[in-house]
Amino acid sequence: IPSPRLVVGNWKMNGLCEQSSHLARAVAEGAQALPDDVRLVLCPPFTQLASVHGIINAAGPDTPLWLGAQDCHTTSSGPHTGDISADMLSDLGVQYVILGHSERRQANGETDALIRRKVEAAEAAGLVPIVCIGETMEERLEGRTTTVLATQVEGSLTDDFNGVLAYEPVWAIGSGSVPPIDELERILSLLHGLLQSRLKMDDIRVPILYGGSVTPAQAPTIFSIGSLGGVLVGSASLEAKSFLRIAESA
Ligand code: PEP
Repeated sequence: IPSPRLVVGNWKMNGLCEQSSHLARAVAEGAQALPDDVRLVLCPPFTQLASVHGIINAAGPDTPLWLGAQDCHTTSSGPHTGDISADMLSDLGVQYVILGHSERRQANGETDALIRRKVEAAEAAGLVPIVCIGETMEERLEGRTTTVLATQVEGSLTDDFNGVLAYEPVWAIGSGSVPPIDELERILSLLHGLLQSRLKMDDIRVPILYGGSVTPAQAPTIFSIGSLGGVLVGSASLEAKSFLRIAESA
């Protein structure tokens, strides 16, 4: 079992000031009881990063809480109105950054090549990139899952990638369905193989997360997969109790 296991909360575009502080405080408080080998990464929207950072700091040096963002730009500064760079995130105390989420691939037209440049920027700024990959339902039904994942691993990772890979089947996100456990196991071993050939070395240092409709009820089954590095949680991360219950199964 990879250690620590990561439980990443992707808040997406949710959270006004009061709600966000309340949620982060409740998670910080409940997280004190978690075992040492679990690491929680809170990824609020940009506007809440500073306040969540303050809450994590106030929780003390032993807190298992880390801070993540949901995107960054490919360059460190310049004429890019409305964008946020990896250096800005790092300067703020951010440690992780989610890149290539399927919502950004779909709604913002992000390609593997663009994502790879963001990964380079994140790594240069000292952030740990969490790169999301995953097939759509159509691709799955057409039997193209392996090809799609291979293309994404090939195109969106850097040659010396040292971050985290998140397998998020697009059809599972927000749908209430998770892949059957044997399918998930098969895909994880496929991804281990793809990482080994992409990075030309043992992939042990790249944890693989699963994401897509992870709930407290499903978490124990998902975590029963020994090689799983953790989970990426969307909607269930917006409630402290359910997020903590998922973390307890890690
Ligand atoms: C996600 O979008 O990263 C995600 C895992 O969402 P949900 O848990 O809501 O399916």
